[in-house]
Amino acid sequence: MARVSVNSLRKEFDTGNVVAVDDLSLEIEDGEFVTVVGPSGCGKTTTLRMLAGLERPTAGTIKIGDENVTDVHAKNRDVAMVFQNYALYPHKTVFENMEFGLRMSTDLNETERERRVVESAEMMDIEDLLEDKPDELSGGQKQRVALGRAIVREPDLFLFDEPLSNLDAKLRTSMRAEIQRLQNELEITAVYVTHDQHEAMTMGDRIVILDGGELQQQGRPTEVYENPVNEFVAGFIGSPSMNFVDVDVESTGSRLRLTGANGGFSFDLSPAYVNNSEVALDSSRYTLGIRPENVTLVDPGAADSITATIDVVEPVGSDNFLHLDVNSEFIARVDSDVYLEPGDRVSFTFDESNIHLFDHETGHNVF
Ligand code: ATP
Repeated sequence: MARVSVNSLRKEFDTGNVVAVDDLSLEIEDGEFVTVVGPSGCGKTTTLRMLAGLERPTAGTIKIGDENVTDVHAKNRDVAMVFQNYALYPHKTVFENMEFGLRMSTDLNETERERRVVESAEMMDIEDLLEDKPDELSGGQKQRVALGRAIVREPDLFLFDEPLSNLDAKLRTSMRAEIQRLQNELEITAVYVTHDQHEAMTMGDRIVILDGGELQQQGRPTEVYENPVNEFVAGFIGSPSMNFVDVDVESTGSRLRLTGANGGFSFDLSPAYVNNSEVALDSSRYTLGIRPENVTLVDPGAADSITATIDVVEPVGSDNFLHLDVNSEFIARVDSDVYLEPGDRVSFTFDESNIHLFDHETGHNVF
């Protein structure tokens, strides 16, 4: 396994004048599992393809271990890639599919190659499928074979390009666990691309969030969840999404009052909290961010609470999502045994330590 260093990576495509990846720098530690997430077109696949050597960067460098591989051909990089569409050879058996890469990239003898294939097949629980052809396999089995084919090579770096996207929800959950088990057992260094923020959060030691080809934030999943650097990250990570409501901030010394830009509510931050903050805010318009699980129902008319009318109740089994109308909308996540109906009046509040204030123009998290 190896450390990976990506420095100021850039990729322009001439067709359409697209900057797919812009000034991306990343350090991936030996044995680290990094997930890369972002909306469609944000540059995830292009980043992965540059790491694999399938796409040549316009600028920047890639180091795997101590070697600068920026100009090294894909077949000479010690990297294995697992694709969404499995990319198995249809006319080869599972055994041949798994052995092929070893035959091409190593000088192991036949006995040693067979030993490695059988060992990897056992690890992926596909030893009974070794004589089958890909079209005899289910989607889940094909992806196990693709994983086995990657493991068998014992590469320095594993690259996963949305490997579970073609599987149904149940299978995706079990394959996700399978990949995590492999990660724990083999301590692989991996970059795992997904558009699914839940997958990125649950699988990654570290999560990298891209938008428009640019790095937005990287960090441990909980770090990113709790301290998003901007409105984009705050809204992309977490389900349901963080509530965003325009507020006018009135700042008078140690007091901060937030008033809904459409009226309907106001919320005072305590002087102690404001004093402890390292940032002083202007009296201006901001975007208030608060996660649905941090919006709490309180007794009707409780001190400092906000009164709202319930617009919609969305039951999702374990929880209910309440859409609360205060001229703006807040969504609250409450237990499923909280029985409320559209039109009911409720009071809610939130803890000041859970709020974020984003610059109204730039979206930067400023408080
Ligand atoms: P998705 O989740 O939809 O796969 P992505 O985040 O993986 O998206 P990329 O496939 O890396 O995004 O694409 C980034 C940008 O580069 C997009 O605007 C895309 O249209 C463009 N792009 C990708 N490959 C090429 C290419 N070969 N030629 C021209 N433009 C390209």
